[in-house]
Amino acid sequence: SAPTAVRTRFAPSPTGYLHLGGARTALFSWAFARHHNGTFVLRVEDTDVQRSTPQAVQAILDGMKWLSLDADEGPFYQMQRIDRYKEVLATMLDAGTAYYCYSSPEEVEQMRELAKAQGRKPKYDGTWRPEPGKALPPVPEGRKPVVRFRNPTEGVVTWNDMLKGPISIDNAELDDLIIARPDGTPTYNFCVVVDDHDMQITHVIRGDDHVNNTPRQINILKALGAPVPEYGHLPMILGPDGQKLSKRHGAVSVMEYDTQGYLPEAMINYLARLGWSHGDQELFSREQFVQWFDTRNLSKSAAQWDPKKLNWVNAHY
Ligand code: GLU
Repeated sequence: SAPTAVRTRFAPSPTGYLHLGGARTALFSWAFARHHNGTFVLRVEDTDVQRSTPQAVQAILDGMKWLSLDADEGPFYQMQRIDRYKEVLATMLDAGTAYYCYSSPEEVEQMRELAKAQGRKPKYDGTWRPEPGKALPPVPEGRKPVVRFRNPTEGVVTWNDMLKGPISIDNAELDDLIIARPDGTPTYNFCVVVDDHDMQITHVIRGDDHVNNTPRQINILKALGAPVPEYGHLPMILGPDGQKLSKRHGAVSVMEYDTQGYLPEAMINYLARLGWSHGDQELFSREQFVQWFDTRNLSKSAAQWDPKKLNWVNAHY
Protein backbone atom coordinates (compact mmCIF):
# COMPACT_ATOMS: atom_id res chain seq x y z
CA SER A 1 0.00 0.00 0.00
CA ALA A 2 1.08 3.60 -0.55
CA PRO A 3 2.76 5.23 2.43
CA THR A 4 0.60 7.67 4.36
CA ALA A 5 1.09 11.25 3.21
CA VAL A 6 3.12 13.26 5.69
CA ARG A 7 1.21 15.89 7.64
CA THR A 8 2.95 18.12 10.17
CA ARG A 9 1.78 21.08 12.19
CA PHE A 10 3.03 24.12 14.01
CA ALA A 11 0.85 24.83 17.03
CA PRO A 12 1.89 28.08 18.71
CA SER A 13 0.16 29.54 21.74
CA PRO A 14 -0.43 33.21 20.91
CA THR A 15 0.84 34.64 24.17
CA GLY A 16 3.68 36.73 22.67
CA TYR A 17 5.71 37.35 19.53
CA LEU A 18 7.10 34.53 17.41
CA HIS A 19 10.34 33.89 19.22
CA LEU A 20 13.42 32.25 17.80
CA GLY A 21 12.70 28.85 19.34
CA GLY A 22 9.17 28.86 17.94
CA ALA A 23 10.41 29.92 14.54
CA ARG A 24 12.91 27.07 14.50
CA THR A 25 10.21 24.56 15.50
CA ALA A 26 7.99 25.90 12.73
CA LEU A 27 10.88 25.72 10.27
CA PHE A 28 11.64 22.06 11.02
CA SER A 29 7.96 21.04 10.85
CA TRP A 30 7.57 22.96 7.61
CA ALA A 31 10.76 21.50 6.09
CA PHE A 32 9.80 17.96 7.04
CA ALA A 33 6.45 18.37 5.29
CA ARG A 34 8.02 20.02 2.23
CA HIS A 35 10.75 17.38 2.00
CA HIS A 36 8.11 14.64 1.89
CA ASN A 37 5.71 16.53 -0.38
CA GLY A 38 3.40 16.58 2.61
CA THR A 39 1.09 19.08 4.19
CA PHE A 40 2.00 21.70 6.77
CA VAL A 41 -0.82 22.78 9.07
CA LEU A 42 -0.90 25.93 11.21
CA ARG A 43 -2.93 25.70 14.39
CA VAL A 44 -3.29 28.54 16.87
CA GLU A 45 -3.64 27.21 20.43
CA ASP A 46 -5.57 30.10 21.89
CA THR A 47 -7.56 28.36 24.63
CA ASP A 48 -5.61 30.16 27.36
CA VAL A 49 -7.91 33.17 27.11
CA GLN A 50 -6.09 35.06 29.87
CA ARG A 51 -2.78 35.08 28.02
CA SER A 52 -3.77 34.86 24.34
CA THR A 53 -4.05 38.11 22.40
CA PRO A 54 -4.97 39.01 18.81
CA GLN A 55 -1.70 40.99 18.66
CA ALA A 56 0.25 37.83 19.40
CA VAL A 57 -1.68 35.92 16.72
CA GLN A 58 -0.77 38.65 14.26
CA ALA A 59 2.87 38.65 15.39
CA ILE A 60 3.09 34.90 14.77
CA LEU A 61 1.46 35.18 11.35
CA ASP A 62 3.79 38.09 10.48
CA GLY A 63 6.85 36.14 11.58
CA MET A 64 5.88 33.12 9.53
CA LYS A 65 5.12 35.29 6.54
CA TRP A 66 8.48 37.04 6.84
CA LEU A 67 10.21 33.65 6.83
CA SER A 68 7.89 32.35 4.07
CA LEU A 69 6.87 29.38 6.19
CA ASP A 70 3.62 29.03 4.31
CA ALA A 71 0.92 26.77 5.72
CA ASP A 72 -1.08 24.52 3.41
CA GLU A 73 -3.97 24.36 5.86
CA GLY A 74 -5.06 26.77 8.56
CA PRO A 75 -4.65 28.82 10.56
CA PHE A 76 -7.11 26.84 12.64
CA TYR A 77 -8.09 28.36 15.97
CA GLN A 78 -8.79 26.10 18.92
CA MET A 79 -11.33 28.53 20.34
CA GLN A 80 -13.41 27.91 17.22
CA ARG A 81 -13.32 24.17 17.81
CA ILE A 82 -14.71 24.01 21.34
CA ASP A 83 -17.91 22.29 20.16
CA ARG A 84 -15.82 19.59 18.55
CA TYR A 85 -13.84 18.99 21.77
CA LYS A 86 -17.09 18.78 23.72
CA GLU A 87 -18.41 16.26 21.23
CA VAL A 88 -15.35 14.04 21.73
CA LEU A 89 -15.64 14.45 25.51
CA ALA A 90 -19.22 13.21 25.34
CA THR A 91 -18.12 10.21 23.26
CA MET A 92 -15.47 9.32 25.83
CA LEU A 93 -17.86 9.68 28.76
CA ASP A 94 -20.25 7.35 26.94
CA ALA A 95 -17.53 4.85 26.21
CA GLY A 96 -16.24 4.95 29.80
CA THR A 97 -12.77 6.11 28.77
CA ALA A 98 -13.45 9.31 30.71
CA TYR A 99 -15.46 9.97 33.86
CA TYR A 100 -16.89 12.78 35.96
CA CYS A 101 -14.86 13.52 39.06
CA TYR A 102 -16.47 15.50 41.88
CA SER A 103 -13.42 15.66 44.12
CA SER A 104 -12.68 19.27 45.02
CA PRO A 105 -9.24 20.78 44.35
CA GLU A 106 -8.66 20.74 48.14
CA GLU A 107 -9.50 17.03 48.32
CA VAL A 108 -7.19 16.28 45.42
CA GLU A 109 -4.43 18.24 47.14
CA GLN A 110 -4.95 16.14 50.28
CA MET A 111 -4.73 12.93 48.24
CA ARG A 112 -1.47 14.10 46.76
CA GLU A 113 -0.05 15.06 50.13
CA LEU A 114 -1.05 11.71 51.57
CA ALA A 115 0.55 9.83 48.68
CA LYS A 116 3.75 11.85 49.11
CA ALA A 117 3.79 11.17 52.86
CA GLN A 118 3.46 7.46 52.09
CA GLY A 119 6.25 7.57 49.55
CA ARG A 120 3.92 7.05 46.60
CA LYS A 121 3.66 9.08 43.41
CA PRO A 122 1.39 12.09 44.16
CA LYS A 123 -1.72 11.32 42.15
CA TYR A 124 -5.47 11.50 42.12
CA ASP A 125 -6.61 8.51 44.18
CA GLY A 126 -9.37 7.35 41.85
CA THR A 127 -12.31 8.07 44.20
CA TRP A 128 -14.60 8.80 41.25
CA ARG A 129 -13.05 6.35 38.84
CA PRO A 130 -15.69 3.79 37.92
CA GLU A 131 -14.65 0.17 38.43
CA PRO A 132 -16.79 -2.92 37.98
CA GLY A 133 -18.69 -3.61 41.20
CA LYS A 134 -17.56 -0.36 42.84
CA ALA A 135 -20.12 2.02 44.33
CA LEU A 136 -19.31 5.68 43.74
CA PRO A 137 -19.78 8.22 46.54
CA PRO A 138 -22.89 10.43 46.56
CA VAL A 139 -22.53 13.51 44.35
CA PRO A 140 -21.74 16.54 46.55
CA GLU A 141 -24.54 19.07 46.43
CA GLY A 142 -24.01 21.90 43.94
CA ARG A 143 -20.51 20.86 42.93
CA LYS A 144 -19.56 20.92 39.25
CA PRO A 145 -17.39 17.98 38.17
CA VAL A 146 -14.23 17.93 36.11
CA VAL A 147 -13.86 15.23 33.48
CA ARG A 148 -10.91 12.91 33.93
CA PHE A 149 -9.33 10.59 31.41
CA ARG A 150 -9.34 6.99 32.57
CA ASN A 151 -5.63 6.33 32.16
CA PRO A 152 -4.64 2.66 31.93
CA THR A 153 -3.15 1.51 35.23
CA GLU A 154 -0.96 -1.21 33.77
CA GLY A 155 1.59 -1.56 31.04
CA VAL A 156 3.85 1.02 29.48
CA VAL A 157 3.48 3.77 26.93
CA THR A 158 6.29 3.71 24.42
CA TRP A 159 7.27 5.70 21.41
CA ASN A 160 10.37 5.95 19.31
CA ASP A 161 11.19 9.63 19.44
CA MET A 162 12.69 11.00 16.22
CA LEU A 163 15.35 12.75 18.31
CA LYS A 164 15.51 11.03 21.67
CA GLY A 165 15.10 7.43 20.53
CA PRO A 166 12.87 4.90 22.33
CA ILE A 167 11.05 6.22 25.40
CA SER A 168 8.92 4.11 27.79
CA ILE A 169 6.75 5.42 30.60
CA ASP A 170 4.95 3.18 33.10
CA ASN A 171 1.23 3.86 33.10
CA ALA A 172 1.39 3.62 36.88
CA GLU A 173 3.33 6.90 36.76
CA LEU A 174 0.53 8.74 34.97
CA ASP A 175 -2.44 10.42 36.57
CA ASP A 176 -6.05 10.37 35.42
CA LEU A 177 -5.64 13.63 33.57
CA ILE A 178 -8.29 16.35 33.84
CA ILE A 179 -9.57 16.82 30.29
CA ALA A 180 -12.44 19.23 31.03
CA ARG A 181 -12.77 21.89 33.72
CA PRO A 182 -15.80 22.36 35.97
CA ASP A 183 -17.22 24.88 33.47
CA GLY A 184 -17.01 22.21 30.76
CA THR A 185 -14.13 23.76 28.83
CA PRO A 186 -11.57 21.26 27.54
CA THR A 187 -7.99 21.39 28.82
CA TYR A 188 -4.84 21.90 26.82
CA ASN A 189 -3.65 18.30 26.35
CA PHE A 190 -7.09 17.18 25.31
CA CYS A 191 -7.45 19.86 22.61
CA VAL A 192 -4.04 18.94 21.22
CA VAL A 193 -5.03 15.28 20.99
CA VAL A 194 -8.36 15.94 19.29
CA ASP A 195 -6.69 18.34 16.85
CA ASP A 196 -3.75 16.10 16.00
CA HIS A 197 -6.26 13.34 15.34
CA ASP A 198 -8.78 15.41 13.34
CA MET A 199 -6.01 17.09 11.35
CA GLN A 200 -4.48 13.65 10.66
CA ILE A 201 -1.06 14.73 11.82
CA THR A 202 1.54 12.05 11.11
CA HIS A 203 4.61 13.73 12.61
CA VAL A 204 4.61 15.96 15.66
CA ILE A 205 7.79 18.03 15.85
CA ARG A 206 7.86 20.30 18.90
CA GLY A 207 10.00 21.53 21.74
CA ASP A 208 11.13 19.03 24.34
CA ASP A 209 9.29 21.00 27.01
CA HIS A 210 6.33 18.91 25.79
CA VAL A 211 7.95 15.52 26.20
CA ASN A 212 6.05 14.84 29.45
CA ASN A 213 2.74 15.45 27.69
CA THR A 214 3.44 12.85 25.03
CA PRO A 215 2.64 9.64 26.98
CA ARG A 216 -0.61 11.24 28.20
CA GLN A 217 -1.54 12.30 24.68
CA ILE A 218 -0.70 8.86 23.27
CA ASN A 219 -2.96 7.19 25.86
CA ILE A 220 -5.87 9.45 24.94
CA LEU A 221 -5.32 8.84 21.22
CA LYS A 222 -5.38 5.10 21.86
CA ALA A 223 -8.57 5.43 23.89
CA LEU A 224 -10.10 7.19 20.89
CA GLY A 225 -8.96 4.37 18.64
CA ALA A 226 -6.89 6.95 16.76
CA PRO A 227 -3.53 6.31 15.11
CA VAL A 228 -0.53 7.54 17.07
CA PRO A 229 1.74 9.92 15.13
CA GLU A 230 5.52 9.94 15.24
CA TYR A 231 6.98 12.41 17.73
CA GLY A 232 10.20 14.37 17.67
CA HIS A 233 11.13 16.61 20.57
CA LEU A 234 13.63 19.34 19.79
CA PRO A 235 16.12 20.40 22.44
CA MET A 236 15.85 24.05 23.42
CA ILE A 237 17.99 26.91 22.25
CA LEU A 238 20.49 28.28 24.75
CA GLY A 239 21.91 31.77 24.92
CA PRO A 240 25.63 32.37 24.44
CA ASP A 241 26.04 31.96 28.23
CA GLY A 242 24.54 28.46 28.19
CA GLN A 243 21.29 29.56 29.85
CA LYS A 244 17.88 29.21 28.21
CA LEU A 245 17.61 31.82 25.45
CA SER A 246 15.67 34.82 26.68
CA LYS A 247 15.17 38.53 26.23
CA ARG A 248 18.33 39.41 28.13
CA HIS A 249 20.36 37.81 25.32
CA GLY A 250 19.04 40.44 22.90
CA ALA A 251 16.32 40.17 20.30
CA VAL A 252 14.24 37.05 20.64
CA SER A 253 11.37 38.03 18.37
CA VAL A 254 12.08 37.09 14.76
CA MET A 255 10.45 40.31 13.55
CA GLU A 256 13.04 42.37 15.39
CA TYR A 257 15.57 40.89 12.99
CA ASP A 258 13.44 42.11 10.10
CA THR A 259 13.47 45.59 11.62
CA GLN A 260 17.24 45.39 11.97
CA GLY A 261 17.60 44.57 8.27
CA TYR A 262 18.47 40.90 8.43
CA LEU A 263 17.42 38.88 5.41
CA PRO A 264 14.78 36.22 5.95
CA GLU A 265 16.76 33.73 3.88
CA ALA A 266 19.78 34.25 6.14
CA MET A 267 17.59 33.74 9.18
CA ILE A 268 16.22 30.51 7.66
CA ASN A 269 19.77 29.30 6.96
CA TYR A 270 20.95 30.21 10.45
CA LEU A 271 17.91 28.68 12.22
CA ALA A 272 18.26 25.54 10.12
CA ARG A 273 21.84 25.14 11.28
CA LEU A 274 20.77 25.69 14.85
CA GLY A 275 20.03 22.07 15.61
CA TRP A 276 20.47 20.45 12.23
CA SER A 277 23.47 19.78 10.06
CA HIS A 278 24.37 18.68 6.57
CA GLY A 279 27.96 17.66 7.05
CA ASP A 280 29.78 20.86 7.91
CA GLN A 281 28.10 22.95 5.23
CA GLU A 282 27.20 26.34 6.69
CA LEU A 283 25.52 28.08 3.77
CA PHE A 284 22.68 26.67 1.75
CA SER A 285 19.53 27.85 0.07
CA ARG A 286 16.04 27.19 1.33
CA GLU A 287 15.58 24.70 -1.52
CA GLN A 288 18.72 22.80 -0.59
CA PHE A 289 17.64 22.74 3.03
CA VAL A 290 14.27 21.24 2.11
CA GLN A 291 15.94 18.72 -0.17
CA TRP A 292 18.46 17.63 2.46
CA PHE A 293 16.32 17.88 5.56
CA ASP A 294 16.03 14.70 7.57
CA THR A 295 15.35 14.09 11.21
CA ARG A 296 18.39 11.85 11.65
CA ASN A 297 20.65 14.86 11.36
CA LEU A 298 18.82 16.85 13.99
CA SER A 299 21.02 17.52 16.97
CA LYS A 300 20.16 15.76 20.22
CA SER A 301 21.75 18.40 22.38
CA ALA A 302 20.73 21.99 22.95
CA ALA A 303 21.92 24.44 20.32
CA GLN A 304 23.57 27.70 21.30
CA TRP A 305 22.46 31.02 19.86
CA ASP A 306 25.41 32.86 18.39
CA PRO A 307 24.71 36.37 17.07
CA LYS A 308 28.17 36.54 15.42
CA LYS A 309 27.39 33.46 13.41
CA LEU A 310 24.04 34.91 12.36
CA ASN A 311 25.84 38.07 11.22
CA TRP A 312 28.31 35.98 9.28
CA VAL A 313 25.52 34.05 7.56
CA ASN A 314 23.62 37.28 6.85
CA ALA A 315 26.72 38.83 5.28
CA HIS A 316 26.91 35.95 2.80
CA TYR A 317 23.44 36.47 1.36
N1 GLU B 1 1.03 25.32 21.95
C1 GLU B 1 2.22 24.70 22.41
C2 GLU B 1 3.29 25.72 22.62
O1 GLU B 1 3.24 26.80 22.05
C3 GLU B 1 2.75 23.64 21.44
C4 GLU B 1 1.99 22.39 21.53
C5 GLU B 1 2.45 21.28 20.64
O2 GLU B 1 3.27 21.52 19.71
O3 GLU B 1 1.97 20.17 20.83
O4 GLU B 1 4.22 25.46 23.35
